[in-house]
Amino acid sequence: MQEKPYFCPNCRSNRVKFSVITSYSQFFMKDALSGAIQEFQEPDAIQEAEPTIQCQVCSFIGNELRFIKQAEREPRMNTTTTTMY
Ligand SMILES: [Zn+2]
Repeated sequence: MQEKPYFCPNCRSNRVKFSVITSYSQFFMKDALSGAIQEFQEPDAIQEAEPTIQCQVCSFIGNELRFIKQAEREPRMNTTTTTMY
């Protein structure tokens, strides 16, 4: 995952709350006759070049790049309030 700002291209109100969708591969053995699962191994995360991101506001799911591109198109205004003395 890249350390870049995200902005949801769907609801366009969320820049902070996301989740990453990770695929896992989990090896298991089945009994050929009964179909019963006999052995389950620990899940292995499948490394993906581009993570899939879900917006926690509208549940939109898309490539990380879509969120980054949207943030680049509509960057957050810098509202740093400078206190004057
Ligand atoms: Zn959204």
